[in-house]
Amino acid sequence: MDKIKNIAVVAHDNCKGELLDFIDCNRGVMGEHNLIATGTTGRMVEILFRERTSQNGEKNAQKKVTRLKSGPLGGDQQMGALIADGKVDILIFFWDPMEPQPHDVDVKALLRLAVLYNIPTASNRSSAEFLISSAFFDHEFSIKKSEFFEYANRDVQEV
Ligand code: PGA
Repeated sequence: MDKIKNIAVVAHDNCKGELLDFIDCNRGVMGEHNLIATGTTGRMVEILFRERTSQNGEKNAQKKVTRLKSGPLGGDQQMGALIADGKVDILIFFWDPMEPQPHDVDVKALLRLAVLYNIPTASNRSSAEFLISSAFFDHEFSIKKSEFFEYANRDVQEV
């Protein structure tokens, strides 16, 4: 993956405050990368960058976040599709461990694809802090990818 990463960020409603605080505390670094987010999370991240700029005159005022649909409306599935297409380098997904979600199956699918495609993933604040502190975060990094060649080309007679 390149020096400039495609970072997907998502947070369930009870975890949005924590994710925004994480991004706020690390906005210098996060602002240097391409951010992709589910709908509501993305809107909140854009507002955060806008506010910090008007308050402190920081750059990144117009930080554009690629906004997908809201999670319950298919945003998690869109994000999973981006992972399968190789368009996400890092996933920061603060999912709620205390409340079931209407789109729990989509959440599970997204996390599954992140594991399958070997995407560095943080599901809570301390893992996100570890990720962003990694020497690889701001440098090129070669991720071990499986092309699933054998699986994709298995003999159809065996299925
Ligand atoms: P949201 O979706 O950013 O649109 O709230 C997050 C989710 O619930 O997956």
